[in-house]
Amino acid sequence: MTTIADLSRQMPDTSGINFYTADPDLSYHMRQSLSTEDFERAQGILSRMGEVASQRMDELAQVANRQGPVLIQYDKRGQRIDRVVFHPAYHELERIAYEDFAIAACTHREGALGWPGKVPQQVKFALGYLGMQAEAGVFCPVSMTDALARVLERHASEPFRRRFLPALTAMKMDELKQGAMFLTEKQGGSDVGLTATIARPRPGENFADDTLQPQWELWGDKWFCSNVSADLILTLARPEGAPAGTRGLGLFLVPRTLDDGTRNAYTINRLKDKLGTRSLATGEVTLHGAQAYLVGNLERGFVQMTEMINLTRIWAAFGSLAAMRRSFLEALTYTRERVAFGRPLAEHPLMRRQLVDLLIEVEGCAALAFETVAVLERVDRHGVEEDRRLLRILTPLSKYYIPKRGEYVTIEALEMLGGNGYIEEWANPRLLRDAIVNVVWEGSSNVIVLDVARAMAREGVDAALFAMLKNRLQALQNAVVVPVAQEVLTQIHHVSERVRSLPTLNEESAQLPLRGLVERMAQLTIITLLLE
Ligand SMILES: Cc1cc2nc3c(=O)[nH]c(=O)nc-3n(C[C@H](O)[C@H](O)[C@H](O)COP(=O)(O)OP(=O)(O)OC[C@H]3O[C@@H](n4cnc5c(N)ncnc54)[C@H](O)[C@@H]3O)c2cc1C
Repeated sequence: MTTIADLSRQMPDTSGINFYTADPDLSYHMRQSLSTEDFERAQGILSRMGEVASQRMDELAQVANRQGPVLIQYDKRGQRIDRVVFHPAYHELERIAYEDFAIAACTHREGALGWPGKVPQQVKFALGYLGMQAEAGVFCPVSMTDALARVLERHASEPFRRRFLPALTAMKMDELKQGAMFLTEKQGGSDVGLTATIARPRPGENFADDTLQPQWELWGDKWFCSNVSADLILTLARPEGAPAGTRGLGLFLVPRTLDDGTRNAYTINRLKDKLGTRSLATGEVTLHGAQAYLVGNLERGFVQMTEMINLTRIWAAFGSLAAMRRSFLEALTYTRERVAFGRPLAEHPLMRRQLVDLLIEVEGCAALAFETVAVLERVDRHGVEEDRRLLRILTPLSKYYIPKRGEYVTIEALEMLGGNGYIEEWANPRLLRDAIVNVVWEGSSNVIVLDVARAMAREGVDAALFAMLKNRLQALQNAVVVPVAQEVLTQIHHVSERVRSLPTLNEESAQLPLRGLVERMAQLTIITLLLE
Protein backbone atom coordinates (compact mmCIF):
# COMPACT_ATOMS: atom_id res chain seq x y z
CA MET A 1 0.00 0.00 0.00
CA THR A 2 1.24 3.53 -0.79
CA THR A 3 1.84 5.55 2.40
CA ILE A 4 1.63 9.35 2.81
CA ALA A 5 5.43 9.43 3.02
CA ASP A 6 5.67 7.53 -0.28
CA LEU A 7 3.24 9.93 -1.92
CA SER A 8 5.09 13.03 -0.82
CA ARG A 9 8.29 11.44 -2.10
CA GLN A 10 6.63 10.72 -5.42
CA MET A 11 5.13 14.19 -5.62
CA PRO A 12 7.27 16.48 -3.48
CA ASP A 13 6.83 20.23 -3.18
CA THR A 14 8.74 23.03 -1.46
CA SER A 15 6.70 23.22 1.74
CA GLY A 16 9.00 23.46 4.74
CA ILE A 17 11.90 24.76 2.66
CA ASN A 18 13.02 28.19 3.87
CA PHE A 19 13.14 30.34 0.71
CA TYR A 20 16.07 32.33 2.07
CA THR A 21 18.33 29.69 3.57
CA ALA A 22 17.78 27.52 0.49
CA ASP A 23 18.97 30.35 -1.76
CA PRO A 24 22.75 30.82 -1.57
CA ASP A 25 22.59 33.16 -4.55
CA LEU A 26 20.44 35.64 -2.64
CA SER A 27 22.75 35.68 0.36
CA TYR A 28 25.65 36.14 -2.10
CA HIS A 29 24.01 39.31 -3.45
CA MET A 30 23.39 40.58 0.06
CA ARG A 31 26.99 39.94 1.08
CA GLN A 32 28.30 41.57 -2.10
CA SER A 33 26.42 44.81 -1.82
CA LEU A 34 25.94 45.38 1.92
CA SER A 35 28.45 46.34 4.57
CA THR A 36 29.41 43.48 6.89
CA GLU A 37 27.25 44.92 9.68
CA ASP A 38 24.25 45.37 7.41
CA PHE A 39 24.71 41.88 6.00
CA GLU A 40 24.72 40.41 9.50
CA ARG A 41 21.68 42.47 10.46
CA ALA A 42 19.80 41.32 7.35
CA GLN A 43 20.39 37.61 7.98
CA GLY A 44 17.80 37.09 10.71
CA ILE A 45 15.18 39.26 9.01
CA LEU A 46 15.53 37.55 5.63
CA SER A 47 15.62 34.12 7.15
CA ARG A 48 12.40 34.88 9.03
CA MET A 49 10.78 36.09 5.83
CA GLY A 50 12.07 32.99 3.98
CA GLU A 51 10.27 30.81 6.47
CA VAL A 52 7.04 32.82 6.65
CA ALA A 53 6.84 33.06 2.86
CA SER A 54 7.34 29.36 2.23
CA GLN A 55 4.67 28.33 4.70
CA ARG A 56 2.19 30.84 6.10
CA MET A 57 2.13 33.26 3.16
CA ASP A 58 1.93 30.46 0.66
CA GLU A 59 -1.11 28.95 2.37
CA LEU A 60 -2.78 32.35 2.68
CA ALA A 61 -2.04 33.15 -0.96
CA GLN A 62 -3.77 30.01 -2.15
CA VAL A 63 -6.96 31.10 -0.39
CA ALA A 64 -6.72 34.81 -1.19
CA ASN A 65 -6.28 34.10 -4.89
CA ARG A 66 -9.09 31.57 -5.07
CA GLN A 67 -11.48 33.80 -3.18
CA GLY A 68 -10.61 37.16 -4.64
CA PRO A 69 -12.04 40.56 -3.75
CA VAL A 70 -15.67 41.45 -4.31
CA LEU A 71 -17.09 44.92 -4.96
CA ILE A 72 -20.18 45.90 -2.98
CA GLN A 73 -21.54 49.00 -4.70
CA TYR A 74 -24.64 49.74 -2.62
CA ASP A 75 -25.64 49.35 0.99
CA LYS A 76 -29.00 47.99 2.07
CA ARG A 77 -30.59 51.44 1.77
CA GLY A 78 -29.44 51.79 -1.80
CA GLN A 79 -26.67 54.24 -0.98
CA ARG A 80 -23.54 54.05 -3.07
CA ILE A 81 -20.68 52.71 -0.95
CA ASP A 82 -18.24 51.03 -3.40
CA ARG A 83 -16.70 48.87 -0.73
CA VAL A 84 -14.19 46.21 -1.74
CA VAL A 85 -14.39 43.13 0.46
CA PHE A 86 -11.35 40.87 0.70
CA HIS A 87 -10.99 37.40 2.14
CA PRO A 88 -9.38 37.57 5.62
CA ALA A 89 -6.41 35.69 4.14
CA TYR A 90 -5.62 38.76 2.04
CA HIS A 91 -5.73 41.01 5.10
CA GLU A 92 -3.35 38.67 6.87
CA LEU A 93 -0.97 38.87 3.91
CA GLU A 94 -1.18 42.66 4.13
CA ARG A 95 -0.40 42.52 7.83
CA ILE A 96 2.66 40.36 7.27
CA ALA A 97 3.96 42.67 4.52
CA TYR A 98 3.21 46.08 6.07
CA GLU A 99 3.49 45.30 9.78
CA ASP A 100 5.75 42.32 10.39
CA PHE A 101 8.25 43.19 7.68
CA ALA A 102 7.53 46.92 7.14
CA ILE A 103 8.27 46.46 3.45
CA ALA A 104 6.54 49.62 2.25
CA ALA A 105 7.99 51.74 5.06
CA CYS A 106 11.46 50.43 5.76
CA THR A 107 13.41 52.52 3.24
CA HIS A 108 11.54 55.68 4.26
CA ARG A 109 11.34 55.44 8.02
CA GLU A 110 14.36 55.32 10.29
CA GLY A 111 14.45 52.41 12.71
CA ALA A 112 12.04 50.07 10.90
CA LEU A 113 12.88 46.40 11.54
CA GLY A 114 15.23 47.57 14.30
CA TRP A 115 17.61 49.00 11.70
CA PRO A 116 19.85 51.92 12.67
CA GLY A 117 18.67 54.48 10.09
CA LYS A 118 16.80 53.50 6.95
CA VAL A 119 16.87 49.94 5.64
CA PRO A 120 18.94 49.67 2.42
CA GLN A 121 17.00 49.20 -0.82
CA GLN A 122 18.71 45.83 -1.37
CA VAL A 123 17.22 44.44 1.85
CA LYS A 124 13.75 45.78 1.08
CA PHE A 125 13.80 44.21 -2.37
CA ALA A 126 15.18 40.96 -0.96
CA LEU A 127 12.21 40.87 1.41
CA GLY A 128 9.87 41.52 -1.50
CA TYR A 129 11.63 38.87 -3.57
CA LEU A 130 11.08 36.27 -0.86
CA GLY A 131 7.50 37.34 -0.16
CA MET A 132 6.55 37.39 -3.84
CA GLN A 133 7.68 33.78 -4.17
CA ALA A 134 4.52 33.05 -2.20
CA GLU A 135 2.13 35.84 -3.21
CA ALA A 136 2.26 38.44 -5.96
CA GLY A 137 -1.07 40.27 -5.61
CA VAL A 138 -0.55 41.98 -2.28
CA PHE A 139 2.86 43.25 -3.35
CA CYS A 140 1.34 45.51 -5.99
CA PRO A 141 -0.19 47.75 -3.28
CA VAL A 142 2.97 47.40 -1.19
CA SER A 143 5.10 48.59 -4.10
CA MET A 144 2.77 51.49 -4.90
CA THR A 145 2.67 52.61 -1.27
CA ASP A 146 6.46 52.51 -1.21
CA ALA A 147 6.71 54.38 -4.52
CA LEU A 148 4.12 57.00 -3.61
CA ALA A 149 6.09 57.81 -0.46
CA ARG A 150 9.15 58.24 -2.68
CA VAL A 151 7.37 60.70 -4.97
CA LEU A 152 6.21 62.79 -2.03
CA GLU A 153 9.67 62.73 -0.45
CA ARG A 154 11.15 64.11 -3.64
CA HIS A 155 8.52 66.43 -5.01
CA ALA A 156 6.10 67.56 -2.31
CA SER A 157 6.53 70.55 -0.01
CA GLU A 158 7.68 70.02 3.57
CA PRO A 159 4.21 70.62 5.10
CA PHE A 160 2.68 68.28 2.52
CA ARG A 161 5.17 65.56 3.38
CA ARG A 162 4.53 66.04 7.09
CA ARG A 163 0.83 65.69 6.44
CA PHE A 164 0.86 62.50 4.33
CA LEU A 165 4.07 60.57 4.83
CA PRO A 166 3.51 59.32 8.39
CA ALA A 167 0.36 57.41 7.41
CA LEU A 168 1.83 56.17 4.11
CA THR A 169 4.81 54.74 5.95
CA ALA A 170 2.92 53.52 9.03
CA MET A 171 3.79 50.06 10.27
CA LYS A 172 0.44 49.36 11.94
CA MET A 173 -2.51 48.43 9.77
CA ASP A 174 -4.93 50.71 11.62
CA GLU A 175 -2.65 53.72 11.05
CA LEU A 176 -1.61 52.85 7.50
CA LYS A 177 -2.85 54.65 4.40
CA GLN A 178 -2.09 52.59 1.31
CA GLY A 179 -1.14 54.13 -2.02
CA ALA A 180 -2.19 53.56 -5.61
CA MET A 181 -1.71 55.16 -9.01
CA PHE A 182 -4.53 55.57 -11.47
CA LEU A 183 -2.99 56.53 -14.81
CA THR A 184 -4.30 54.29 -17.55
CA GLU A 185 -7.39 55.49 -19.37
CA LYS A 186 -9.43 53.71 -22.04
CA GLN A 187 -7.83 55.54 -24.93
CA GLY A 188 -4.27 55.30 -23.68
CA GLY A 189 -2.15 53.41 -21.21
CA SER A 190 1.19 53.62 -22.96
CA ASP A 191 0.41 56.98 -24.55
CA VAL A 192 -0.13 58.84 -21.28
CA GLY A 193 -0.17 62.12 -23.21
CA LEU A 194 -3.71 61.21 -24.32
CA THR A 195 -4.96 61.52 -20.74
CA ALA A 196 -8.41 63.09 -20.89
CA THR A 197 -9.12 63.56 -17.18
CA ILE A 198 -9.70 67.23 -16.48
CA ALA A 199 -8.55 69.21 -13.46
CA ARG A 200 -10.46 72.33 -12.43
CA PRO A 201 -9.73 74.68 -9.54
CA ARG A 202 -12.47 74.10 -6.97
CA PRO A 203 -15.01 76.86 -7.27
CA GLY A 204 -15.94 79.32 -4.58
CA GLU A 205 -13.26 78.31 -2.10
CA ASN A 206 -10.72 80.66 -0.69
CA PHE A 207 -7.61 78.63 -0.12
CA ALA A 208 -5.53 79.55 -3.13
CA ASP A 209 -2.26 79.60 -1.17
CA ASP A 210 -2.95 76.67 1.11
CA THR A 211 -1.46 73.59 -0.55
CA LEU A 212 -2.70 71.47 2.32
CA GLN A 213 -6.21 71.90 0.98
CA PRO A 214 -7.54 69.93 -1.97
CA GLN A 215 -7.65 72.91 -4.32
CA TRP A 216 -8.65 70.96 -7.41
CA GLU A 217 -11.42 68.72 -8.58
CA LEU A 218 -10.93 65.98 -11.15
CA TRP A 219 -13.33 64.72 -13.80
CA GLY A 220 -12.69 61.64 -15.93
CA ASP A 221 -12.42 57.86 -16.21
CA LYS A 222 -9.52 55.67 -15.18
CA TRP A 223 -9.53 52.24 -16.79
CA PHE A 224 -7.02 50.19 -14.76
CA CYS A 225 -6.82 50.98 -11.06
CA SER A 226 -5.00 48.42 -8.93
CA ASN A 227 -5.47 48.61 -5.19
CA VAL A 228 -8.64 50.40 -6.14
CA SER A 229 -9.69 50.78 -2.50
CA ALA A 230 -6.43 52.57 -1.59
CA ASP A 231 -6.53 55.56 0.73
CA LEU A 232 -4.27 57.85 -1.31
CA ILE A 233 -4.20 57.83 -5.08
CA LEU A 234 -1.68 59.52 -7.30
CA THR A 235 -3.07 60.46 -10.69
CA LEU A 236 -2.52 62.68 -13.70
CA ALA A 237 -5.03 65.17 -15.02
CA ARG A 238 -5.01 68.09 -17.41
CA PRO A 239 -5.93 71.51 -16.08
CA GLU A 240 -8.40 73.16 -18.43
CA GLY A 241 -6.54 75.11 -21.07
CA ALA A 242 -3.23 73.28 -20.49
CA PRO A 243 -1.38 72.07 -23.59
CA ALA A 244 -1.94 68.62 -25.10
CA GLY A 245 0.49 65.75 -24.47
CA THR A 246 2.36 64.85 -21.30
CA ARG A 247 3.59 68.42 -20.84
CA GLY A 248 0.10 69.64 -19.99
CA LEU A 249 -0.47 67.13 -17.20
CA GLY A 250 -0.48 67.95 -13.51
CA LEU A 251 0.14 65.43 -10.73
CA PHE A 252 -2.59 65.11 -8.12
CA LEU A 253 -3.18 63.24 -4.90
CA VAL A 254 -6.75 62.03 -4.44
CA PRO A 255 -7.77 60.91 -0.94
CA ARG A 256 -10.39 58.21 -0.67
CA THR A 257 -11.97 59.94 2.31
CA LEU A 258 -12.25 63.69 2.81
CA ASP A 259 -11.29 65.47 6.02
CA ASP A 260 -14.92 65.55 7.16
CA GLY A 261 -15.09 61.75 6.87
CA THR A 262 -17.24 61.63 3.73
CA ARG A 263 -16.32 59.68 0.59
CA ASN A 264 -14.51 61.55 -2.11
CA ALA A 265 -16.43 61.94 -5.37
CA TYR A 266 -15.41 58.92 -7.39
CA THR A 267 -17.10 55.62 -8.09
CA ILE A 268 -15.68 52.17 -8.60
CA ASN A 269 -17.64 50.90 -11.57
CA ARG A 270 -16.49 47.29 -11.43
CA LEU A 271 -13.54 45.04 -10.66
CA LYS A 272 -11.55 43.50 -13.49
CA ASP A 273 -11.80 39.75 -14.02
CA LYS A 274 -8.10 39.06 -14.51
CA LEU A 275 -5.86 36.24 -15.69
CA GLY A 276 -3.62 36.59 -12.63
CA THR A 277 -2.97 38.61 -9.46
CA ARG A 278 -6.46 37.53 -8.56
CA SER A 279 -6.10 38.44 -4.89
CA LEU A 280 -5.56 42.06 -5.92
CA ALA A 281 -8.51 44.38 -6.54
CA THR A 282 -8.07 46.13 -9.89
CA GLY A 283 -11.00 48.32 -10.80
CA GLU A 284 -12.44 50.84 -13.21
CA VAL A 285 -13.08 54.26 -11.73
CA THR A 286 -14.96 57.42 -12.64
CA LEU A 287 -13.90 60.67 -11.03
CA HIS A 288 -16.94 62.91 -10.60
CA GLY A 289 -15.23 66.09 -9.47
CA ALA A 290 -13.09 64.24 -6.92
CA GLN A 291 -11.21 66.62 -4.63
CA ALA A 292 -7.48 66.51 -5.22
CA TYR A 293 -4.27 68.04 -3.89
CA LEU A 294 -1.72 69.32 -6.34
CA VAL A 295 1.65 67.57 -5.90
CA GLY A 296 4.77 69.61 -6.63
CA ASN A 297 4.94 71.75 -9.72
CA LEU A 298 1.80 71.88 -11.91
CA GLU A 299 3.80 72.00 -15.13
CA ARG A 300 5.98 69.01 -14.22
CA GLY A 301 3.30 66.47 -13.38
CA PHE A 302 4.42 63.75 -15.75
CA VAL A 303 8.12 64.11 -14.95
CA GLN A 304 7.37 63.83 -11.23
CA MET A 305 5.18 60.81 -11.88
CA THR A 306 8.07 58.97 -13.52
CA GLU A 307 9.71 58.79 -10.07
CA MET A 308 6.90 56.47 -9.02
CA ILE A 309 6.86 54.52 -12.26
CA ASN A 310 10.59 53.90 -12.21
CA LEU A 311 10.39 52.38 -8.75
CA THR A 312 7.36 50.24 -9.58
CA ARG A 313 9.19 49.08 -12.71
CA ILE A 314 11.92 47.68 -10.49
CA TRP A 315 9.24 46.07 -8.35
CA ALA A 316 7.74 44.49 -11.49
CA ALA A 317 11.13 43.03 -12.42
CA PHE A 318 11.44 41.57 -8.93
CA GLY A 319 7.92 40.16 -9.19
CA SER A 320 8.93 38.09 -12.19
CA LEU A 321 12.25 37.18 -10.65
CA ALA A 322 10.41 35.82 -7.61
CA ALA A 323 8.11 33.73 -9.81
CA MET A 324 11.16 32.39 -11.67
CA ARG A 325 13.01 31.46 -8.50
CA ARG A 326 9.98 29.75 -6.93
CA SER A 327 9.27 27.90 -10.17
CA PHE A 328 12.85 26.70 -10.30
CA LEU A 329 12.78 25.61 -6.66
CA GLU A 330 9.56 23.67 -7.21
CA ALA A 331 11.06 21.97 -10.27
CA LEU A 332 14.30 21.13 -8.49
CA THR A 333 12.53 19.75 -5.42
CA TYR A 334 10.16 17.69 -7.51
CA THR A 335 12.64 16.21 -9.94
CA ARG A 336 15.21 15.35 -7.29
CA GLU A 337 12.83 12.94 -5.61
CA ARG A 338 10.41 11.73 -8.20
CA VAL A 339 11.62 8.52 -9.79
CA ALA A 340 11.02 7.59 -13.43
CA PHE A 341 12.69 4.86 -15.44
CA GLY A 342 14.59 3.67 -12.38
CA ARG A 343 16.19 6.90 -11.14
CA PRO A 344 15.24 10.38 -9.95
CA LEU A 345 14.12 12.62 -12.78
CA ALA A 346 16.86 15.10 -11.97
CA GLU A 347 19.49 12.48 -12.77
CA HIS A 348 18.34 12.06 -16.35
CA PRO A 349 20.65 14.08 -18.61
CA LEU A 350 17.87 15.97 -20.39
CA MET A 351 16.27 17.00 -17.11
CA ARG A 352 19.65 17.93 -15.61
CA ARG A 353 20.28 20.13 -18.59
CA GLN A 354 16.88 21.78 -18.20
CA LEU A 355 17.51 22.45 -14.51
CA VAL A 356 20.89 24.01 -15.20
CA ASP A 357 19.37 26.17 -17.94
CA LEU A 358 16.72 27.46 -15.57
CA LEU A 359 19.20 28.04 -12.77
CA ILE A 360 21.33 30.17 -15.08
CA GLU A 361 18.25 32.15 -16.13
CA VAL A 362 17.27 32.77 -12.52
CA GLU A 363 20.74 33.65 -11.28
CA GLY A 364 21.43 35.85 -14.30
CA CYS A 365 18.23 37.81 -13.80
CA ALA A 366 18.88 38.01 -10.05
CA ALA A 367 22.32 39.48 -10.77
CA LEU A 368 20.76 42.17 -12.97
CA ALA A 369 17.98 42.95 -10.50
CA PHE A 370 20.22 43.18 -7.44
CA GLU A 371 22.78 45.27 -9.32
CA THR A 372 19.96 47.67 -10.18
CA VAL A 373 18.88 48.10 -6.57
CA ALA A 374 22.46 48.40 -5.35
CA VAL A 375 22.81 51.35 -7.75
CA LEU A 376 19.45 52.71 -6.57
CA GLU A 377 20.75 52.63 -3.02
CA ARG A 378 23.92 54.49 -4.05
CA VAL A 379 21.85 57.11 -5.87
CA ASP A 380 19.70 57.61 -2.78
CA ARG A 381 22.67 57.85 -0.42
CA HIS A 382 25.21 59.75 -2.52
CA GLY A 383 23.43 61.04 -5.66
CA VAL A 384 26.47 60.69 -7.94
CA GLU A 385 25.60 61.61 -11.55
CA GLU A 386 27.26 58.51 -13.04
CA ASP A 387 25.15 56.26 -10.81
CA ARG A 388 22.03 58.20 -11.71
CA ARG A 389 22.70 57.55 -15.39
CA LEU A 390 23.39 53.89 -14.69
CA LEU A 391 20.13 53.57 -12.81
CA ARG A 392 18.34 55.28 -15.68
CA ILE A 393 19.32 52.43 -18.00
CA LEU A 394 19.42 49.49 -15.58
CA THR A 395 15.79 50.10 -14.54
CA PRO A 396 14.25 49.64 -18.01
CA LEU A 397 16.74 46.86 -18.86
CA SER A 398 15.53 44.93 -15.80
CA LYS A 399 11.89 45.70 -16.49
CA TYR A 400 12.22 44.57 -20.09
CA TYR A 401 14.42 41.52 -19.72
CA ILE A 402 13.40 39.85 -16.46
CA PRO A 403 9.63 39.62 -17.05
CA LYS A 404 10.33 38.31 -20.56
CA ARG A 405 12.54 35.53 -19.15
CA GLY A 406 9.93 35.03 -16.45
CA GLU A 407 7.43 33.92 -19.08
CA TYR A 408 9.84 31.27 -20.34
CA VAL A 409 11.04 30.01 -16.96
CA THR A 410 7.60 29.71 -15.37
CA ILE A 411 6.27 27.70 -18.33
CA GLU A 412 9.35 25.52 -18.56
CA ALA A 413 9.29 24.76 -14.83
CA LEU A 414 5.59 23.96 -14.99
CA GLU A 415 6.31 21.30 -17.58
CA MET A 416 9.00 19.75 -15.39
CA LEU A 417 6.34 18.79 -12.86
CA GLY A 418 4.46 16.94 -15.57
CA GLY A 419 0.67 16.96 -15.20
CA ASN A 420 0.78 18.22 -11.62
CA GLY A 421 2.37 21.45 -12.82
CA TYR A 422 -0.82 22.21 -14.71
CA ILE A 423 -3.08 21.70 -11.69
CA GLU A 424 -4.28 24.62 -9.58
CA GLU A 425 -3.41 23.03 -6.22
CA TRP A 426 0.25 23.23 -7.18
CA ALA A 427 2.03 26.56 -7.20
CA ASN A 428 2.92 26.64 -10.91
CA PRO A 429 -0.29 27.86 -12.55
CA ARG A 430 -0.46 30.84 -10.19
CA LEU A 431 3.23 31.64 -10.66
CA LEU A 432 2.80 31.61 -14.42
CA ARG A 433 -0.33 33.79 -14.39
CA ASP A 434 1.10 36.25 -11.90
CA ALA A 435 4.40 36.56 -13.75
CA ILE A 436 2.79 37.53 -17.06
CA VAL A 437 1.35 40.78 -15.76
CA ASN A 438 4.84 42.14 -15.16
CA VAL A 439 5.39 42.18 -18.90
CA VAL A 440 2.29 44.35 -19.36
CA TRP A 441 1.93 46.78 -16.46
CA GLU A 442 4.32 49.59 -15.68
CA GLY A 443 4.93 49.85 -19.42
CA SER A 444 4.73 46.97 -21.89
CA SER A 445 7.87 45.70 -23.63
CA ASN A 446 7.87 47.99 -26.67
CA VAL A 447 7.24 51.00 -24.49
CA ILE A 448 10.16 50.07 -22.25
CA VAL A 449 12.43 49.58 -25.24
CA LEU A 450 11.48 53.03 -26.54
CA ASP A 451 12.24 54.41 -23.08
CA VAL A 452 15.75 52.94 -23.28
CA ALA A 453 16.18 54.53 -26.72
CA ARG A 454 15.06 57.92 -25.36
CA ALA A 455 17.42 57.69 -22.40
CA MET A 456 20.32 56.78 -24.71
CA ALA A 457 19.58 59.61 -27.12
CA ARG A 458 18.98 62.31 -24.51
CA GLU A 459 21.25 61.33 -21.64
CA GLY A 460 23.87 59.04 -23.17
CA VAL A 461 23.12 56.35 -20.60
CA ASP A 462 24.52 53.62 -22.85
CA ALA A 463 27.98 55.14 -22.36
CA ALA A 464 27.57 54.88 -18.58
CA LEU A 465 26.55 51.23 -18.86
CA PHE A 466 29.30 50.21 -21.26
CA ALA A 467 31.97 52.03 -19.24
CA MET A 468 30.86 50.23 -16.07
CA LEU A 469 30.86 46.85 -17.81
CA LYS A 470 34.29 47.41 -19.38
CA ASN A 471 35.82 48.43 -16.05
CA ARG A 472 34.50 45.37 -14.36
CA LEU A 473 35.52 43.00 -17.13
CA GLN A 474 39.02 44.42 -17.29
CA ALA A 475 39.41 43.97 -13.54
CA LEU A 476 38.83 40.20 -13.77
CA GLN A 477 41.94 38.13 -13.16
CA ASN A 478 40.87 34.51 -12.95
CA ALA A 479 42.60 32.63 -15.80
CA VAL A 480 39.43 30.75 -16.72
CA VAL A 481 37.23 33.82 -17.01
CA VAL A 482 39.69 36.24 -18.66
CA PRO A 483 39.25 34.83 -22.21
CA VAL A 484 35.47 34.90 -21.77
CA ALA A 485 35.72 38.47 -20.54
CA GLN A 486 37.67 39.35 -23.69
CA GLU A 487 34.90 37.91 -25.83
CA VAL A 488 32.30 39.87 -23.86
CA LEU A 489 34.33 43.05 -24.37
CA THR A 490 34.28 42.41 -28.12
CA GLN A 491 30.50 41.94 -28.02
CA ILE A 492 30.10 45.15 -26.04
CA HIS A 493 32.10 46.94 -28.70
CA HIS A 494 29.76 45.60 -31.44
CA VAL A 495 26.64 46.59 -29.54
CA SER A 496 27.92 50.06 -28.72
CA GLU A 497 28.79 50.57 -32.40
CA ARG A 498 25.27 49.57 -33.38
CA VAL A 499 23.79 51.91 -30.79
CA ARG A 500 25.99 54.71 -32.11
CA SER A 501 24.74 54.07 -35.64
CA LEU A 502 21.06 54.48 -34.66
CA PRO A 503 20.95 58.26 -35.23
CA THR A 504 22.07 57.69 -38.83
CA LEU A 505 18.84 55.78 -39.54
CA ASN A 506 15.50 57.44 -40.06
CA GLU A 507 13.24 57.47 -37.01
CA GLU A 508 11.11 54.51 -38.10
CA SER A 509 13.99 52.27 -39.13
CA ALA A 510 15.92 53.12 -35.98
CA GLN A 511 13.22 51.40 -33.92
CA LEU A 512 13.48 48.06 -35.70
CA PRO A 513 16.67 46.74 -34.06
CA LEU A 514 15.81 48.16 -30.63
CA ARG A 515 14.34 45.08 -28.98
CA GLY A 516 17.33 43.01 -30.03
CA LEU A 517 19.76 45.66 -28.82
CA VAL A 518 18.07 46.09 -25.46
CA GLU A 519 18.01 42.34 -24.97
CA ARG A 520 21.69 42.16 -25.85
CA MET A 521 22.57 44.95 -23.42
CA ALA A 522 20.75 43.13 -20.64
CA GLN A 523 22.52 39.88 -21.50
CA LEU A 524 25.96 41.50 -21.62
CA THR A 525 25.30 43.08 -18.24
CA ILE A 526 24.26 39.73 -16.85
CA ILE A 527 27.27 37.88 -18.26
CA THR A 528 29.61 40.49 -16.79
CA LEU A 529 27.98 40.21 -13.39
CA LEU A 530 28.04 36.41 -13.49
CA LEU A 531 31.72 36.36 -14.45
CA GLU A 532 32.50 38.30 -11.28
C1 LIG B 1 -3.70 43.55 -13.97
C2 LIG B 1 -3.40 44.93 -14.40
C3 LIG B 1 -3.36 45.93 -13.45
C4 LIG B 1 -3.08 47.23 -13.83
N1 LIG B 1 -3.05 48.20 -12.88
C5 LIG B 1 -2.84 49.49 -13.25
C6 LIG B 1 -2.85 50.54 -12.28
O1 LIG B 1 -2.98 50.32 -11.08
N2 LIG B 1 -2.69 51.81 -12.70
C7 LIG B 1 -2.51 52.11 -14.01
O2 LIG B 1 -2.38 53.27 -14.33
N3 LIG B 1 -2.50 51.14 -14.95
C8 LIG B 1 -2.65 49.85 -14.60
N4 LIG B 1 -2.63 48.85 -15.54
C9 LIG B 1 -2.56 49.22 -16.94
C10 LIG B 1 -1.25 48.96 -17.61
O3 LIG B 1 -0.23 49.77 -17.09
C11 LIG B 1 -1.50 49.19 -19.10
O4 LIG B 1 -2.37 48.17 -19.54
C12 LIG B 1 -0.23 49.19 -19.92
O5 LIG B 1 0.56 50.30 -19.59
C13 LIG B 1 -0.53 49.20 -21.42
O6 LIG B 1 -1.45 50.19 -21.74
P1 LIG B 1 -2.75 49.84 -22.60
O7 LIG B 1 -3.45 48.71 -21.95
O8 LIG B 1 -3.53 51.07 -22.85
O9 LIG B 1 -2.19 49.29 -23.96
P2 LIG B 1 -1.74 50.15 -25.23
O10 LIG B 1 -1.09 51.39 -24.77
O11 LIG B 1 -2.86 50.25 -26.16
O12 LIG B 1 -0.65 49.18 -25.83
C14 LIG B 1 -0.99 47.98 -26.54
C15 LIG B 1 0.30 47.36 -27.06
O13 LIG B 1 0.91 48.26 -27.95
C16 LIG B 1 2.27 48.43 -27.61
N5 LIG B 1 2.69 49.79 -27.95
C17 LIG B 1 2.28 50.95 -27.42
N6 LIG B 1 2.92 51.99 -27.97
C18 LIG B 1 3.76 51.46 -28.90
C19 LIG B 1 4.70 52.01 -29.81
N7 LIG B 1 4.94 53.33 -29.86
N8 LIG B 1 5.38 51.17 -30.60
C20 LIG B 1 5.18 49.84 -30.57
N9 LIG B 1 4.32 49.26 -29.73
C21 LIG B 1 3.61 50.06 -28.90
C22 LIG B 1 2.37 48.16 -26.12
O14 LIG B 1 3.67 47.73 -25.76
C23 LIG B 1 1.32 47.06 -25.96
O15 LIG B 1 1.92 45.82 -26.19
C24 LIG B 1 -2.86 47.54 -15.19
C25 LIG B 1 -2.88 46.52 -16.14
C26 LIG B 1 -3.15 45.24 -15.75
C27 LIG B 1 -3.18 44.17 -16.79
